Amino acid sequence: MKPITRRFLGGLAFGTALLFGLAPGAFAQGKGLVGISMPTKSSARWIDDGNNMVKVLQARGYQTDLQYADDDIPNQLAQVENMITKGAKVLVIAAIDGTTLTKALQSAADKGIKVIAYDRLIRGSKNVDYYATFDNFQVGVLQANSIVDKLGLKQGKGPFNIELFGGSPDDNNAFFFYNGAMSVLDPYIKSGKLVVRSKQMGMDKVGTLRWDGAVAQARMDNLLSAFYGKDKVNAVLSPYDGLSIGILSSLKGVGYCTPQQPCPVVTGQDAEIPSVKSILRGEQTSTIFKDTRQLAKVAADMVDAVLTGKTPEINDTKTYNNGVKVVPSYLLKPVAVDASNWKHVLVDSGYYKESQLK
Ligand code: BGC
Repeated sequence: MKPITRRFLGGLAFGTALLFGLAPGAFAQGKGLVGISMPTKSSARWIDDGNNMVKVLQARGYQTDLQYADDDIPNQLAQVENMITKGAKVLVIAAIDGTTLTKALQSAADKGIKVIAYDRLIRGSKNVDYYATFDNFQVGVLQANSIVDKLGLKQGKGPFNIELFGGSPDDNNAFFFYNGAMSVLDPYIKSGKLVVRSKQMGMDKVGTLRWDGAVAQARMDNLLSAFYGKDKVNAVLSPYDGLSIGILSSLKGVGYCTPQQPCPVVTGQDAEIPSVKSILRGEQTSTIFKDTRQLAKVAADMVDAVLTGKTPEINDTKTYNNGVKVVPSYLLKPVAVDASNWKHVLVDSGYYKESQLK
């Protein structure tokens, strides 16, 4: 835009502001640019996260630069560097690989730019100011509880066969989900009520790089052909809906999810529409709802606070050590969803319209 035009529009805006009794500072330009770096559009939750962040921040008078990195690490790095060049005042980042942004974050810090880790912890850098996320250990606990409840393990039923899936090993959350789940499942594995026939346990064996559903499907294919013939798998711990859908396809391919051979218990996370529909069809057992509207609000509150010299509200100062420092965090509560409560949790809260789920 030519300076003259900009000046003209600026004057127009100023005039309008006076007309409506607003201080000129109330305009978006006055509050500055916030860079929002999201990992991928391949999962609906990140699209919702990005849209919610833009909505909340713009309503509060910020400009936003929202970028998705296609799960490509150099891409995300370039996008973050570009936000720094464009003069962002705060960066809100959901990292693909939590360890790859150190250099860019140093140059951000050198310019006085604040950094908020969004949902995923950024590791290995002192230049992470705050962390907005959910109670990730509790996510795993809720997933495992769903298995315990459905199988009737507390009532002494069993033994049952189970296989375990983990998230992406470059995402700190994946370890929290797995450890949370294992805190519940381990005693049953030790007592023999749950049997991992493949013996594949631990994030080094069960991790799924980049949370890729096709990778999970291929691994499930291998597990079924190597370890399950006459003996059936009764439960699959899956940390994310995108993996659960792949795992269910694999199971259906060898005759599960039929009247003769029902689906095993399959968990998930994110309450993505295909998985909610799968729950309503009686296939996937459960998912974990994480309200991205709330997360966007928490992150936006952090943006507001750091830019006005205030301390953001935090509720955890112990859990998230990123290898260099403990990052002050705000943890939201995840909610387990299954066929018994989906309507209350997902529709009554306004997150989805019922028609989207049918
Ligand atoms: C998020 C999960 C999500 C996963 C895959 C994790 O970092 O916390 O909600 O399922 O990434 O996108």
